[in-house]
Amino acid sequence: LPRVVILGRPNVGKSTLFNRLVGKKLALVDDQPGVTRDRREGKARLLDLEFTVIDTAGLEEAEAGSLSDRMRAQSRAALEGATAALFVVDARTGLTEADRHFARWLRQEAGLPIIAVANKSEGRAAESGLMEAFELGLGDPVAMSAEHGEGLADLFEALAPLIPEPSDEPEDEGDEDLPEDAPLKLAIVGRPNAGKSTLINKLLGQNRLLTGPEAGITRDSIAIPWEWQGRQVHLIDTAGMRRKAKVVDKLEKLAVADGRHAVDFAEVVVLLLDATLGLEAQDLRIADMVLQEGRALIVAINKWDSAEDQSRLFNGIKKALEDGLAQVKGVPVLTVSALTGKGLDVLMEVAFETRERWSRRVPTAALNRWFEHAQERNPPPAPGGRRIKMRYITQARTRPPTFIVFGNRLDELPDSYNRYLVNSLRDDLDLKGLPIRINMRSSR
Ligand code: GDP
Repeated sequence: LPRVVILGRPNVGKSTLFNRLVGKKLALVDDQPGVTRDRREGKARLLDLEFTVIDTAGLEEAEAGSLSDRMRAQSRAALEGATAALFVVDARTGLTEADRHFARWLRQEAGLPIIAVANKSEGRAAESGLMEAFELGLGDPVAMSAEHGEGLADLFEALAPLIPEPSDEPEDEGDEDLPEDAPLKLAIVGRPNAGKSTLINKLLGQNRLLTGPEAGITRDSIAIPWEWQGRQVHLIDTAGMRRKAKVVDKLEKLAVADGRHAVDFAEVVVLLLDATLGLEAQDLRIADMVLQEGRALIVAINKWDSAEDQSRLFNGIKKALEDGLAQVKGVPVLTVSALTGKGLDVLMEVAFETRERWSRRVPTAALNRWFEHAQERNPPPAPGGRRIKMRYITQARTRPPTFIVFGNRLDELPDSYNRYLVNSLRDDLDLKGLPIRINMRSSR
């Protein structure tokens, strides 16, 4: 489960909020000074969000030193591995120096999304405290009363984008630790005669596809279970590979339609090119479709055995790909011969490796460290003299890697800046060649 840490100085209501989220009755607060308690963890439910919530209240007496020192020490440990933090202040008493210091420190050091919570916001006495909470520089504070259960809907709104919903995308199940033995779902697409059937037959080591459709298998894609060096593979076969169409002028359309179908089922898609024909617009269209669908793409140039002037051909195709797929840099390009089997081991190796990166989750702390550097290298623009503020980034999903950036007026960011972000994210965090999605979310 994602971990959410509750931070703040003593008496702001951290434990009350913890109990509210975990659904326990208020109790358990041991006031004995000098008693070191472990930090409490519990399973929290907030509407349909599920996460582990961590209450740092018990650590307050654990360390000697000034209040801010202690707050820092308790937080640093608790933030390890967390997805987000709730920074709680007391709206009734207003901000203290310690709150302001702590917020500044969090902004600079925490490296993960922080939501300011103005607690004890019931009633009019809290209004000025709530206004002050804006000054923390942590975005719009969530006004709530942990004790009275008010403001939970706002807290939900603030947390929801940060917490992946388990029910949201069933295919995402277990995406953080892709089991080593999960079958690789691999599709091979390309124009007619690129050599798809030959390649699959070679990989399978038998003339399976040429034996014609088996009973019950007609037009739909099916998966052929198979093993490569002891690892499970499901080759997504498409009707188009079996069916040799008779009407030549329909071939091109069929290739795209079949490809699309296979892509739906695949994790990694190999676009097979014919070395004797080179790269054509149709190939780029298929490649583009694969990336649009968020799949990991590999380009394999087939019939390399009969290719002439190989290095010029290779560089030409590579260049045309980089130009034609400007939105995704670094798609792997390999050469193979489906006929002789040359290059197929490398192809499979790269396919497994690519799936692994496509499925990886970048730790939030590393992600935000990168985010800061990226903004230092190339600060966001300042339309009308006011700099656009980007506060933090989180990875909402894997497969494909999907990120959410939070900040203000993000809709004013020019496309060129968005492209800069995507490209340096891809380069710096080992996501080369992968489709990446970044959603911008401005605070209200
Ligand atoms: P598909 O329509 O993409 O399934 O293409 P096929 O597998 O039917 O292959 C089309 C033609 O290309 C056949 O005549 C194959 O023998 C030939 N072919 C496929 N792979 C290779 C290869 O690696 N080298 C050479 N020289 N010919 C190939």
